Amino acid sequence: MSTVKVLILPGDNIGPEITREAVKVINTVKKRFYLPLDIEYGLIGGAAIDSFGDPCPKETIASAKQSKGILLGAVGGPSWDNLELKLRPEQGLLKIRKELDFYANIRPAKIFDELLDSSSLKRDVLEGLDLIIVRELVGGIYFGEPRGIIVNDSGDREGFNTYRYSESEIRRIVKIAFELAIQRDGRVCSVDKSNVLEATKLWREIITEVSMDFPEVSLSHMYVDNAAMQLIKDPKQFDVIVTGNMFGDILSDISAMLTGSIGMLPSASLNSSKLGLYEPCHGSAPDIAGKGIANPLATILSVAMMFRYSLGYEDEATLIESAVKKVLRDGYRTVDIKTSSDNGMCLNTSEMGDRVVDAICELSG
Ligand code: NAD
Repeated sequence: MSTVKVLILPGDNIGPEITREAVKVINTVKKRFYLPLDIEYGLIGGAAIDSFGDPCPKETIASAKQSKGILLGAVGGPSWDNLELKLRPEQGLLKIRKELDFYANIRPAKIFDELLDSSSLKRDVLEGLDLIIVRELVGGIYFGEPRGIIVNDSGDREGFNTYRYSESEIRRIVKIAFELAIQRDGRVCSVDKSNVLEATKLWREIITEVSMDFPEVSLSHMYVDNAAMQLIKDPKQFDVIVTGNMFGDILSDISAMLTGSIGMLPSASLNSSKLGLYEPCHGSAPDIAGKGIANPLATILSVAMMFRYSLGYEDEATLIESAVKKVLRDGYRTVDIKTSSDNGMCLNTSEMGDRVVDAICELSG
């Protein structure tokens, strides 16, 4: 039987600690269900700078192109903060996203009932929350040209970036949102600033046109400032939110906090061949690196997304998610999701990974 390659890019600081736990989960599921998966490792971020002088070496890109799914821990940290911008670890992330055209970033924000008290919002605002943010990831103002800092004719320094989207870029990302909505509650909210920005006026025109191909999905529009407010006021009104790169960056961090801890939020970034880069939404957390207390659940939930979207193992994806739920229901917590009001047992990173593995074995008989 031919095998499918899964590439692990641990990255920096807590990256290796959390990916180690995720690999335990992949190996457990692989063994139990005889899945033809091969795990390989590669370097990205600061770790790649230290070995290759490049945050995303060609060896990593070549290996990524031969994989079906890529699991990334996180990159960056103070050791590399003094490097010039184009050599910093975060550039490794931008490069792999761009080179493999991972344009569709999917970030679910689903509350686990067991963690309702970990959020700063009231229980009744959050109970049952289950939304997805679809963010365009390789275009918009983060990549638009021209960009730079110049001295203008008056001798004043000016910084500038360009917010641009082509019709085809808009079309392919909004299509992903409609396809996801069909499998959910059938509602897409498109977030823009079309009252001020021409690029998002075009966005609104195109999504309205694409919506005609999805009559079973209802489409609404919201300005980004209102969307930020509504996410805090009444997040349950949303099913699928779709937006551009910068607005999605900001809104998805707001939605991260709805679920209690950034340590719980997975993400997927897909290209048109459904090859995907899967990573937790958080960074490399240098403040807790090496202490063994990082929450590995966002990375483990990212593995579930990889099984679902890139490897085609829906049952196994659901099993991993059920195992995480069981572990939380059984009262196990890492320090970031432990509240003074729950009686949960505080575990370290490795113990949390082991509990998820045990739960997978128990739930799958
Ligand atoms: P961060 O997400 O790393 O940390 C923010 C806070 O959340 C910290 O207090 C941290 O301890 C906590 N935290 C994060 N993940 C956690 C986990 N799994 N368990 C428990 N607590 C967790 O953000 P930051 O401090 O702004 O950035 C640190 C470094 O990470 C920077 O170099 C930044 O550029 C990089 N970064 C990388 C990515 C990525 O790789 N995708 C994303 C964001 C930031």
